[in-house]
Amino acid sequence: MSLAHLLVRHARQTPERAAIYNGAVPHASYLQWAARSAGLARRFREAALAPGDRVLLFMRNHPRYLEVMWAAWWAGLVIVPVNAKLHTREVEWIIDNAQARYGFVTADVAPTHLAGLERQIDVESAEADAWFAPVAEPMAVTVTEREPDDVAWLFYTSGTTGRPKGVMLTDRNLMTMGLTYFVDVDAVSHEDAIVYAAPMSHGAGIYAIPHLMAGARHVVPASGGVDPAELFELGRQIGPFSTFAAPTIVKRLVDHAEQAGISPEDAACSFKTIVYGGAPMYVADIQRALHVMGPRFVQIYGQGETPMVGTALSRQHLTDTVHPRYLERIASVGVAQTPVQIRISDAEGRDLPLGEVGEVLVKGDSVMAGYWRNEQATAAALRDGWLYTGDVGCLDADGFLTLKDRSKDLIISGGSNIYPREVEEVLLAAPGVAEAAVVGAPDPEWGEVVVAFVVLHPGARIMTEALDEHCLAQMARFKRPKRYVLIDRLPKNNYGKVLKTELRARLIDQALESQA
Ligand code: AMP
Repeated sequence: MSLAHLLVRHARQTPERAAIYNGAVPHASYLQWAARSAGLARRFREAALAPGDRVLLFMRNHPRYLEVMWAAWWAGLVIVPVNAKLHTREVEWIIDNAQARYGFVTADVAPTHLAGLERQIDVESAEADAWFAPVAEPMAVTVTEREPDDVAWLFYTSGTTGRPKGVMLTDRNLMTMGLTYFVDVDAVSHEDAIVYAAPMSHGAGIYAIPHLMAGARHVVPASGGVDPAELFELGRQIGPFSTFAAPTIVKRLVDHAEQAGISPEDAACSFKTIVYGGAPMYVADIQRALHVMGPRFVQIYGQGETPMVGTALSRQHLTDTVHPRYLERIASVGVAQTPVQIRISDAEGRDLPLGEVGEVLVKGDSVMAGYWRNEQATAAALRDGWLYTGDVGCLDADGFLTLKDRSKDLIISGGSNIYPREVEEVLLAAPGVAEAAVVGAPDPEWGEVVVAFVVLHPGARIMTEALDEHCLAQMARFKRPKRYVLIDRLPKNNYGKVLKTELRARLIDQALESQA
């Protein structure tokens, strides 16, 4: 089996159907897509790339992203998509670690020469046209067969701490993920369209698989990124779209809809389904999103190590406002997706009773084969068939998982555990607060103290005394921040995750400065 067969099937059955769009402009039918990917696969073989060799993608979202992915799989190669915002040195570290041979880039993202690659191809250059030239008979180019447990995608973790690790995702993992989408996330037909606004090196690109399974259309916005006005307009023209977005992107879409006076009915013309995940979505934010844009949201929780498959909070769960536990449910990440089991364990791997907080463990066919050439990290993450996610949470009697925080983000102050997420939820309910991130700062007396970084809505003025009063009225005294830092924006990575390590580093720098 190979993921390339998904493309072959649609190219056979519906060759003329539009498959890829560049903005509103058709870029390829299913047959044209297959002809270009098959052509590139043949050129990979001619260049002596052997099954299992790695091909890097370091580019902004681009129609050729999809062509490279499926060409690589056609030739039995492993793709290594990397975050387009990484520094050259970080990418070169990944090239070396993955031993990637070929690299596909766009000039806006990559320097002209990346060390370690045998060959670097700018997908927008004249040279690229020869690489992507279609073959006359794509079906005559054989697909290299792969075993279900062969690696297809080497997914480098976002590396918010330390060196990234190469997560080995197999055909089985990706097939499971694709099929699960239809059961737990959304039905998709060939009339639907996915838009790639969030980076294709991550969840958005992974979702190309279920949308190819369904023979849907794949749309890359002309900007290659998130421009809410562009996305709403493009959706009206050739949507409505499905899309994957981190909570920060959802927020931008909702802000735009509100400012532009777009009604929920109009929003439905642009977006069919917005799947959100990858970082916490706060209750106040999802309520506003539902109010402004209507019932078009589904939440997923997963991680690179079990891509897009962990839990799901369905459209029904998100709209069942009369359910007695509605508010708890929308604060959760939903229930286990169909192919996985989830349990909560203590530090020794023993099951914890319902409601108790511990590490989230996942088991099932979506779980990675291990970390690339890193036995130690693999042995720590995969034990007795369970993936130790490093996330902390609890399950309720109905199977809903509520995440607390990553274990490394937990704050221990005076011996008490404080979950930053709880404090952030309270801060976000304060008038004038747009975003909040809570971290622990080292403290000689308490071990750690709670510090809140707060971003205000434009034009809002709020005194930290008022924030403190708000917190005092809503949470135990020991949890409330000892300090508030007002900042213009939170540091985030390309996937919309707040870089708490950076916030902690700032606090340490400030402490050192004040001692000097
Ligand atoms: P990555 O491997 O880069 O996709 O990051 C995965 C991590 O993002 C998970 O381990 C969680 O800590 C976090 N995450 C993913 N989905 C959610 C979600 N729906 N809510 C809160 N955090 C999430």
